Amino acid sequence: MKLSKRVETLTPSTTLAITAKAKELKQQGINVISFGAGEPDYNTPEHIIEVAYQSMKDGQTKYTPAAGLPELRKAICAKLKADNNLQYEVANVCVCSGAKHALYNIFQVICNPGDEVIIPIPFWVSYPEQVKLASAVPVYVEGIESNLFKITAEQLGASITDKTKALILNSPSNPSGTVYSKEELEAIAAVCVEKDILVISDEIYEKLVYDGTEHVSIASLNDEIFKRTLVVNGVSKPYSMTGWRIGYVAGDKEIINAIIDLSSHSTSNPTTMAQWATLEAITGTQEPLNEMVLEFDKRRKAMVDLLNQIDGISCAMPTGAFYAYANVQELLTDDVKTADAWAAKLLEEANVAVIPGSAFGSDIHIRLSYATSMKNIEAGIQRIKEYVEASN
Ligand code: PLP
Repeated sequence: MKLSKRVETLTPSTTLAITAKAKELKQQGINVISFGAGEPDYNTPEHIIEVAYQSMKDGQTKYTPAAGLPELRKAICAKLKADNNLQYEVANVCVCSGAKHALYNIFQVICNPGDEVIIPIPFWVSYPEQVKLASAVPVYVEGIESNLFKITAEQLGASITDKTKALILNSPSNPSGTVYSKEELEAIAAVCVEKDILVISDEIYEKLVYDGTEHVSIASLNDEIFKRTLVVNGVSKPYSMTGWRIGYVAGDKEIINAIIDLSSHSTSNPTTMAQWATLEAITGTQEPLNEMVLEFDKRRKAMVDLLNQIDGISCAMPTGAFYAYANVQELLTDDVKTADAWAAKLLEEANVAVIPGSAFGSDIHIRLSYATSMKNIEAGIQRIKEYVEASN
């Protein structure tokens, strides 16, 4: 046995398996329509690329401090104040190599073996794995579908034990697109304060909200929850910067210092020119983002309407992110028992790639990303419709 026990528990990503299969079919010349994307189908806006290019020409090609460029940390503080009404100092902020890395670092520095971390279902695929990698234990709480997959304060209270370290909150959510209201967050915050647990608030989709929905950061509700919250955010989703790998975490200085120390011995610093690009993304024009949100809004409505026209599929209208999370339970049979099996067959027989629910803690749901063209949405959902009708 060559491998560590730590990695033995890692679950391979279903998302990657489906994406690999879709790629393989494409390479065989098969016309696959993919709803698997976890990233905007736009390129990074030109003004951001220009700044990165110029920064390199100006010699910004060296290490930065492990916590990130002071200029960027300052701009992140200003952003958190302006957008989220959160008052942080530079020392409360650490820039990381993506929000995923920020989350990974958090679990590494706050968890002891056996600590419990509460993860609402459906969840983003990496949370349980990251918790396990920190020798902690994921504790799942099922978001109720009729409540748009949100957990309630009562559910949360019932799942807390003396080992509970933290709750992960992801609003707007990947995969459900659900956004918690201020009142719902207040109720959840009250439980976290009373039981004295941390909240890891993953707000990476905050800018992608629709129908006038307001994103509220749980940290902004009162001083007590502010002290206990680690706010995670990044530029991947709002600025189509998934490849640049910049995210950040803001919160308690002691925790942030530990993350900085950890980073200093692992990644040294997030990529220097990507940090300059991030500074421009956060402080420059927001016009490309606004245009993208308008376009996503149209696609969201089209996708969800078309899905609901298929007998056996039901899908609530999401108010955030860029995913539709559809229930396919009625289509499952003795031969095709789970959403995973259903998605595998759909890809094989109708050449449409969707992400099955096991990636998010469900056997009966699929996730479809509308970060793809309207043409693909119309053609792909039509294929699913025909496939479902032919299977009946
Ligand atoms: N959190 C959620 C909910 C996500 O969906 C993603 C990316 O898919 C991330 C965090 C990670 O984003 P980043 O590209 O900044 O690492």
